[in-house]
Amino acid sequence: MSIRLEEIKPKRVMIVNRGEIASRVAKACRELGHTSVGLWTDNEPDAAHLEYCDEWVHLEGNGNAETYLDMAKLVALAKENNIDGVHPGYGFLSENGNFSTMLSEAGIIFIGPHNEAIKVMGDKATSKALARDAGVPVVPGTSEAVPTVKKALEVAEEIGYPILLKAVAGGGGRGMRACISPEEVQKNFEAVVRESTAAFGNGDLLVEKLIVNPHHIEVQIMADKKGNVYHFFERECSIQRRHQKIIEEAPSPFIGEDEELRRDICETAVKLARSVKYDSAGTVEFIMGEDKKFYFLEMNTRIQVEHPITEEITGVDLIICMIQSAFGDDLQIPSQEWIKKTGHAIECRICAEDPITMLPSPGVVTGFETNFPQGVRFDHCLYRGLEVTPDFDPMVGKLVAKGLVRDVAIRKMKAALAGLYIEGLKNNIPLHKVVMDDPVFNEGGYTTNYITDTAPQERIDKSIDFVSIYRKLAAAEARNMGM
Ligand code: ADP
Ligand code: ADP
Ligand code: MG
Repeated sequence: MSIRLEEIKPKRVMIVNRGEIASRVAKACRELGHTSVGLWTDNEPDAAHLEYCDEWVHLEGNGNAETYLDMAKLVALAKENNIDGVHPGYGFLSENGNFSTMLSEAGIIFIGPHNEAIKVMGDKATSKALARDAGVPVVPGTSEAVPTVKKALEVAEEIGYPILLKAVAGGGGRGMRACISPEEVQKNFEAVVRESTAAFGNGDLLVEKLIVNPHHIEVQIMADKKGNVYHFFERECSIQRRHQKIIEEAPSPFIGEDEELRRDICETAVKLARSVKYDSAGTVEFIMGEDKKFYFLEMNTRIQVEHPITEEITGVDLIICMIQSAFGDDLQIPSQEWIKKTGHAIECRICAEDPITMLPSPGVVTGFETNFPQGVRFDHCLYRGLEVTPDFDPMVGKLVAKGLVRDVAIRKMKAALAGLYIEGLKNNIPLHKVVMDDPVFNEGGYTTNYITDTAPQERIDKSIDFVSIYRKLAAAEARNMGM
């Protein structure tokens, strides 16, 4: 069987984001023949993504609230510029149902799922109830907000400690606290309500069982507007700090060769997506215990940071599919069976953060060079002079390495990390180097407790060879100048 490419009518796509994802979307637009319209702000007039966009539009204002989060301003700009579709990237307005409603009222397509899916999945209580009703296993505990400490204590007693207090509106790893006793529930309840009210404007909490020694395993979904829903296998994202991912791999080393378990988790994700008539790129996240039982965590109704590792093992461009789906074009996927995985891919998130404390460390890039082995992918927004401000996410790039087997992917990642030079900006490359050398990581059975249990940050080589970095930068510069 072969499929012919349908002719695609060129569209105007505005990219309402910045950083590496804005470049990534612009590249996909170019491949499809769509015109990409990038935004520039006074904070970041030389943003790296502008290089890849066909047109640039000035987004006036200071800080995120007046720019990438100002929905009325963005919709007005899109109308002024005759935009057909808006790609929101991740973060910012990517999971904001009001934004997609405002766009559709203005006759503009939101490149993401339909509004109802965003709204239902955006809330950890309603999505959990929906998953349970669809026959998807959910973490024991409540699937509606728990209004008082008293009720929280009752639920905790029923499901047994340890438990997790979790904000229904939480995201980015925030709004969660584990409690091992009734005293801890007493102590933490009000604090989590306060924090999540401040961060998300919603203080509702769930109480759920804390799965011990768990694995974060998620399934990539892609769907079109004709009712086709596909999965693109799983990713393991158990290397986390503060409940946020820093290293991801596909396929999951914990699932390993257990094809039955793989099929089960992937088909469960498809079942959930079908139950909300899902019609775009999305990810169903699960938490898996030592016993390999898995439970639904949440669905992210957007493209995820770590989508490249799935692209590397399946050979499918997920951003392209997402754009095709939004405009009602064919996904060019003949059937689920055509989607095959080959090899193993690993992603290291390169963040402007102190590698030991793992806290954001804003600054200015004074030098940037790469010297990668064959076949490495680096999606990034780095350039000399880039200023990473506290306003933006500290992630500046995603280093992706692939091999036919996991060991080869690890070897390639080590070589890639050794060939990535970022000067002037504190970053977590030294931490990634330790993890790639670590026997626990290499063995592949690690859990979300990995950073806490193995403390790789304590093994960072503090005698980093800055001299050789400077020498390499100088040599590269001399080459560029034709010396
Ligand atoms: P992914 O699985 O795509 O990596 P993350 O949880 O790391 O998801 O979030 C992706 C991006 O979105 C990050 O830049 C993160 O800071 C941001 N983000 C996600 N949810 C929220 C939220 N509720 N509030 C603010 N930022 C968020
Ligand atoms: P967010 O929206 O912030 O991404 P998630 O529900 O996806 O929130 O959880 C983020 C991370 O927190 C998970 O990847 C996992 O490491 C941890 N976590 C969440 N729920 C549980 C649970 N019930 N038991 C153990 N760990 C959990
Ligand atoms: Mg999550």
